[in-house]
Amino acid sequence: MLELGFCGTKLSHKERDEIIRRSAGAAENSYSNIAHRYQGQSPEAVAQAFGLDIRQINKDDLFGNEHILALFKPEESAILLCEETIAALLRYLDESGLNKTMGEYNIRQTALWHELFHAIEERTPGIYTRSKMLKRKFLFFDVLRGFDSAGEIGAIHFSKLMSGISFSPCLYEYLLISMNGRAIPDAWKLNHAN
Ligand SMILES: [Zn+2]
Repeated sequence: MLELGFCGTKLSHKERDEIIRRSAGAAENSYSNIAHRYQGQSPEAVAQAFGLDIRQINKDDLFGNEHILALFKPEESAILLCEETIAALLRYLDESGLNKTMGEYNIRQTALWHELFHAIEERTPGIYTRSKMLKRKFLFFDVLRGFDSAGEIGAIHFSKLMSGISFSPCLYEYLLISMNGRAIPDAWKLNHAN
């Protein structure tokens, strides 16, 4: 599922696989540490322990962007949550009946875990997803957006593990895009020829 986010063509498959594997590894280490240290506590409690505020943001503050569930603002020691977008996605899942096939899920909490991974990256010197070497490698990607960074792969994987959901949180992104009447970028689709 993680490969879905990759748009690069200039990295070899071996390099790309290594980035995915090591980013997922960084997420798994963080998951073990947090699960051990905070033993089943909510993302809200972990955010508080990290000294982070959780604040509301509106679509208007995001220049009307309808695809952002949450943002980490290290300079403000805050995670900003767009409850409007979360509520719209929840409604869409209920109305479409998709919720019946997804098992247990909590979009708000998954979004918070995602942003908490970025906070963990901030406070973990030498974490793979932030390494300079990797940043150079990423310059070779054709498109630098959305999932196309090691930090995003790590955050997606970490939030899946912390939430205990049975599907990739990438699904939320896909649904938001189709819900808002946009086409999913070709680069995000599985390319079986690769
Ligand atoms: Zn992210």
